[in-house]
Amino acid sequence: MRVHAAGQTDVGCVRKGNEDNLLVDNELGLYVVADGLGGHAAGEVASQIVVEKIGQFIAQTVEQDRTWPLEYDVTIPYDGNRLKAALMLSDQAIVEDIRNNPERESMGSTVVACLVHGSRVTLAHVGDSRAYLLDSEGMRQVTRDHSWVAEQVANGILTPEEARKHPFRNVITQALGNGGELDVAVQELQVRELERLLLCSDGLSGMVQDADIWGIVQQAPSLQRAAHDLVERARANGGEDNITVIIVGFEPDDGSQFTEKP
Ligand code: CA
Repeated sequence: MRVHAAGQTDVGCVRKGNEDNLLVDNELGLYVVADGLGGHAAGEVASQIVVEKIGQFIAQTVEQDRTWPLEYDVTIPYDGNRLKAALMLSDQAIVEDIRNNPERESMGSTVVACLVHGSRVTLAHVGDSRAYLLDSEGMRQVTRDHSWVAEQVANGILTPEEARKHPFRNVITQALGNGGELDVAVQELQVRELERLLLCSDGLSGMVQDADIWGIVQQAPSLQRAAHDLVERARANGGEDNITVIIVGFEPDDGSQFTEKP
C-alpha cells in the first residue's frame, strides 16, 4: 500500500489572522492539524508550538529504545503512546510559554494527529478538530469531539443537526494549554486500499456539510485538488473561521488512483 497526502490551510473570509497550523510529514507518516485559540496572535503561537513539539517528539521516537518522558500507557500500542506523549508534551510546552509570556494567558489549541504505518493508522485528538474516514460509499467521523454539543448528542439530548446550529457549538470541553487534566483520546484503525483519511479544523467541518465534503473528495482528480476544493467550498459558504484540511490517501502499490490527471 502506498500512502500519500496533501494539506492546505487558509485564513478564511472573516478572521484577520490564521491561527491554524498543519504538519504533513510523509517520511514519519505523521499528519497533524492544530487549531489555535486565544486571539491576538496568541492562537497561532499555540498551534505552532503544537505542530513543532509533536513533530520533534515523533522524530525522536522512531526507535523504541528510549527513556519515556511521561507515564507509559501499557493498554495502548507504542505508536499510541508516542502520539499521546507528544500531545501531552505540547500541552506542557504551551503552559510553559504562557508562564514566560503572560500576555498570551488565554491561548490554547485543539489538535488531531495521526501516525500511519501501511494500513495501520493511530489517531489522537483533543478538542473539536476531526478525523473522517472516506471510501466510495460514504464517510464517517472517527473522532468524537471534546465539545459541549458532542456530549449532548452522545446523551441523546441534541440531534447532530441541532448540534451544528446550536449557539454553544464552539464550546470545547478540553484543549491543549489549559493547564488542567488532559484526557487524550487515542485509537487505532485499519484502513483499506482506496480509503482516505481526512483531518480538519472546525473551519471546514462547521462550514461544509459531510455529504458535500465526501462529494468534493470523490470528484477531485488528486488529493491536492481535493484539499484545495474543500477550502474553496468552506470559503464559498462564508469562511467564518480559519480552514485547514489534510487528506491522506491509501493507494494500491500498482495503482494510479490519486495521481494527477492532466
Ligand atoms: Ca477554528
